[in-house]
Amino acid sequence: MGVEEKLPAGILLSTVENLAGYMRKGSLWPATFGLACCAIEMMAFGAPRHDSSRFGMEVFRASPRQADLMIVAGRVSQKMAPVLRQIYDQMAGPKWVLSMGVCASSGGMFNNYAIVQGVDHIVPVDIYLPGCPPRPEMLIDAVLKLHDQIQHTKLGAHREAVEAEAERAALSA
Ligand code: SF4
Repeated sequence: MGVEEKLPAGILLSTVENLAGYMRKGSLWPATFGLACCAIEMMAFGAPRHDSSRFGMEVFRASPRQADLMIVAGRVSQKMAPVLRQIYDQMAGPKWVLSMGVCASSGGMFNNYAIVQGVDHIVPVDIYLPGCPPRPEMLIDAVLKLHDQIQHTKLGAHREAVEAEAERAALSA
């Protein structure tokens, strides 16, 4: 009898999933762009004092095709919304979105016609970070929570959830 036959069903698959989750969470590459004041804190997060590369985020990528994490740092204007969506569509999958600050998450103090009242109207969001602006330490905390999500997501499940959410966002737009 081979080793696989002695193991309980599913044990090999869960090991592969755990390994994939571990590697994915340790190699997130954020897309390089900032939208408003929150982006200053995001830059501090990537700078030596806070050093995001400690968490495997070695470089912010200038090309969305080399990025799998979108940090929406700041309010999203109506004019920027289609550009943001295009960047998201160009990013490599599986991909994640972190909404940084109250403006990105809900429009914040900008309750007016020029600002999108929550970036989840444009792209599916995996984690919301409150604050105005959130400090770099808070961004680190959100990234670690996202790591936890990634580690415990079944292979393929995130893609299905993202596609369903994107369809919902497109219908509500
Ligand atoms: Fe600026 Fe505050 Fe809005 Fe961030 S949450 S974009 S710091 S006003």
